[in-house]
Amino acid sequence: MTDLSRQHNEAKKLSKELRKKGISDERVLAAISNVPRHSFIDEQLSAYAYQDRPLPIESGQTISQPFTVAYQTELLQLQAGEKVLEIGTGSGYQAAILCEMEAEVYSIERYYNLYQTAKEILNKLGYYPNLFFGDGFEGLPEHAPFDKILITAAPEKIPEKLLQQLRVGGWMVVPLGGRGGQKMTVIRRVSDTEFKESEHGDFIFVPMQEGTVE
Ligand code: SAH
Repeated sequence: MTDLSRQHNEAKKLSKELRKKGISDERVLAAISNVPRHSFIDEQLSAYAYQDRPLPIESGQTISQPFTVAYQTELLQLQAGEKVLEIGTGSGYQAAILCEMEAEVYSIERYYNLYQTAKEILNKLGYYPNLFFGDGFEGLPEHAPFDKILITAAPEKIPEKLLQQLRVGGWMVVPLGGRGGQKMTVIRRVSDTEFKESEHGDFIFVPMQEGTVE
């Protein structure tokens, strides 16, 4: 078996494992089967690429656990063509999943080196999300409003500027809380001024931090 088909098999197995763990959105499961996760991590860790665990990437950051990626994506209920803003490009893996789902993807990363590396990998694989080096707390006012916003690092409080960049009827998925752990939270914008919150379990993310690192 070639390396490529072996890796595709492993990605399919991972997708089956996530189904058993409770992910039911077929489009999310298909995206997990189709994105080569090993391409987003250091070669030395490739033996772990299709295990359901987070792995370290550069600058002390992590590529989220596949279950967490699938769970957050499922909560987004992304429809093809929707405009989605991701905060925390990191490895680029989550952005690739969003591209597989045919969304119009925008993603911001605060570390320049991660932004650069993610861009190279994504483009090599044929994914072309709109990537930005910047502080996710600011969002992208010039590209707002977004149908959905996905935050993949943990802020202690709801980032207010991002709420304002949601369209009415859209929602944000955000792991909310300090270093001890976070509650996965969905915040719906029901009118210009009204928001509704719901909680969806406990997770652990790297913190969302202000400013950029060149
Ligand atoms: N979605 C990523 C997960 C990476 S971990 C993936 O699929 O690999 C979270 C990422 O959020 C880290 O890369 C971290 O640098 C980034 N981050 C933290 N605070 C940020 C901010 N204010 N703006 C943009 N990115 C931020």
